[in-house]
Amino acid sequence: MRLILFGPPGVGKGTQAQILSEKFNIPHISTGDMLREAVKNQTELGLKAKSYMDKGELVPDDVMIGIIKEVLSSEKCKDGFILDGFPRTIAQAEALDKIFNELNIKLDFVISIEVNDEEIIKRLTNRRVCRNCGAVFNLLIDRIPNDNKCPRCGGELYQRSDDNPEVIKNRLKVYRESTQIVLDYYAKKGILKTINGIGEISQITKKILESIGVEA
Ligand code: AMP
Repeated sequence: MRLILFGPPGVGKGTQAQILSEKFNIPHISTGDMLREAVKNQTELGLKAKSYMDKGELVPDDVMIGIIKEVLSSEKCKDGFILDGFPRTIAQAEALDKIFNELNIKLDFVISIEVNDEEIIKRLTNRRVCRNCGAVFNLLIDRIPNDNKCPRCGGELYQRSDDNPEVIKNRLKVYRESTQIVLDYYAKKGILKTINGIGEISQITKKILESIGVEA
């Protein structure tokens, strides 16, 4: 299965990608996670990406296309993958098609998850991530212990530096201006599925699976 999970920040792409990755036993490829890891390790890529990420701007296309080409060509992606956070521009979508052609593989579906801006802002400002295992929590829904430790592994929970109101506003603006248009690109190919992202996590997973004809 080769899927793209699409949508503005905070719609639950990462959460759903993780669930589907386990169900189909294929890797979850999140360009945001890859960039954050590079920033943490202060690699050349991380140093380049950080200033864009801090402002909620997009990292330049040539950098992102290089990263995605490398990972999709790797052994771990040979039986399928779930892309989360890529493509974010028409240039990235076109480059991705070229990579698929070169690798002689076919994209199955693009799943667009939709949530209104008010809900997105509420979700992102209340999002906390475990520094150790990467699990994502919402302060309004999940029970977080007073010591701010991850309920799963005991690691430290932190707030992403781009999950603050100013940067969130810009990330949404960038999504509307540069990314949303990519949906038309996939709608024209006839592989776009649209899902309402409001509701319980398991219900949304069910809707995604139904939309692509897989039993839950
Ligand atoms: P995310 O975790 O997907 O919300 O991504 C966090 C940040 O990483 C974004 O706000 C961008 O600065 C950068 N980023 C992630 N994926 C891409 C991409 N495909 N193109 C450009 N920038 C990206």
